[in-house]
Amino acid sequence: MAGTPKAHPKLKLKKGDHVQVVQGKDVGKRGEVARVFPERNMVVVESAEQINVAKKHQKPTRATMQGGIQDKSMPIHVSNLMLLCAKDGPVRVAYRVDDDGTKTRVCRKCGDAL
Ligand SMILES: [Zn+2]
Repeated sequence: MAGTPKAHPKLKLKKGDHVQVVQGKDVGKRGEVARVFPERNMVVVESAEQINVAKKHQKPTRATMQGGIQDKSMPIHVSNLMLLCAKDGPVRVAYRVDDDGTKTRVCRKCGDAL
């Protein structure tokens, strides 16, 4: 297949991306991608708004002598997230390939590099 881009990125999000949840129980919340799991198409989003957080019960340890409940951010599927453009808010991602072959991730609305 001539002309087909070879290295299609598996995951459009990377660590440090600012994203907004567009589906599920946390719709509208924004945060930053903290971890990526490309093989599962999932990412962990850290946010003060607690995105996809599960309560983890901890058994008492010998050191602290007390248990407790800890918040843990769980991975969320990338289809539930949209990348945030500074101008447009949540947007779909496009790719621009320059003459020298450089691939740049851009906002599908305004064309700015993201
Ligand atoms: Zn934009």
